[in-house]
Amino acid sequence: MMPEKRDAGVIRLLDDETVNTIAAGEVIERPASVVKELVENAVDAGADMIKVDINVGTQHVSSVQVSDTGCGMQASDARMSFVRHATSKIQGPNDLSRIHTMGFRGGEALASIAAVSRVTLTTRTKVNDAGTEMIVEGGGEILSVSEVSAPQGTTIRVDNIFYNTPARRKFLKSKETELLHIYRAVEAEAFAHPESAFRLRVNGKEKLRTQRTTTMVQTIAQVFGADISRKIIPPLSAGTPPVMRVDGAIVRPEACRPNAGGEIHLCVNGRPVTSPPQIVRAIRAGGYGTLIPKGRFPMAYLSIKIDTSLVDVNVHPAKREIRS
Ligand code: ADP
Ligand code: MG
Repeated sequence: MMPEKRDAGVIRLLDDETVNTIAAGEVIERPASVVKELVENAVDAGADMIKVDINVGTQHVSSVQVSDTGCGMQASDARMSFVRHATSKIQGPNDLSRIHTMGFRGGEALASIAAVSRVTLTTRTKVNDAGTEMIVEGGGEILSVSEVSAPQGTTIRVDNIFYNTPARRKFLKSKETELLHIYRAVEAEAFAHPESAFRLRVNGKEKLRTQRTTTMVQTIAQVFGADISRKIIPPLSAGTPPVMRVDGAIVRPEACRPNAGGEIHLCVNGRPVTSPPQIVRAIRAGGYGTLIPKGRFPMAYLSIKIDTSLVDVNVHPAKREIRS
């Protein structure tokens, strides 16, 4: 029983399951967070095709599945991938200043997802003939591991999201809102990673599709069609790698939309991030000046590549913000 007020108590370490469920709350706020984390892992795995399949029931998103054509995992790595603080991406604190991957905290995503759902992982590497299937549930408990035939790459299916965290489930918005967040997350990743092809389906119906390209601007054209592409001011680019390079596009003033905040898609070293007010102001004042009609907001897509030692990506639980 919980003490009514805080008495002098014995300090104990929380068990792994509790730790994982608490930590899950920081990274996994909603189904779209699951999508973001799984897609970023697929990007890190070097996948050239990333497929996202969502199922929605009458009320909620009932499952999320992400399949990739990336490097896959061996059976032993598949087991390790659900262990908190286990990662193939960094080895020590020095590596934190030269992060080129989306993930780096290690096992945070998969451990957190598995803490609040049921996860089925199917994976195979290029060198292994057989693949591995693993089912993990409730606080990362491995229910089964088996050898299966599978294509190279990884498929992760997540069911029963938040089944054991009713408070979080209660805070979910309507399925339409959750789907919009998912759409936005996939769209942001597609812009940030033109080198991968993306496909999003909801209950089997295709909602978004991009082919592999080399620039964000080509991806924008694929997502919005020729119509909006014609309204884009010819691609801008400035700076020289490796210190900093900016690529992107802004939309002609007359095509700017009336929604507050406009739409500024910003990604830094392939990581979609929330635009800080300075950037929004710079685009508005410096980019459009007085050209933008009142009540309309800028629309811009910027991809900044900057020396990884100049930015700190480890400041936000869901990595939506960065600092210089
Ligand atoms: P992080 O990305 O911070 O390392 P995650 O929990 O997202 O932590 O993933 C843990 C580990 O599992 C990764 O470091 C990676 O080795 C492996 N992994 C996860 N998803 C994939 C995938 N789609 N393909 C290959 N390996 C993966
Ligand atoms: Mg990750």
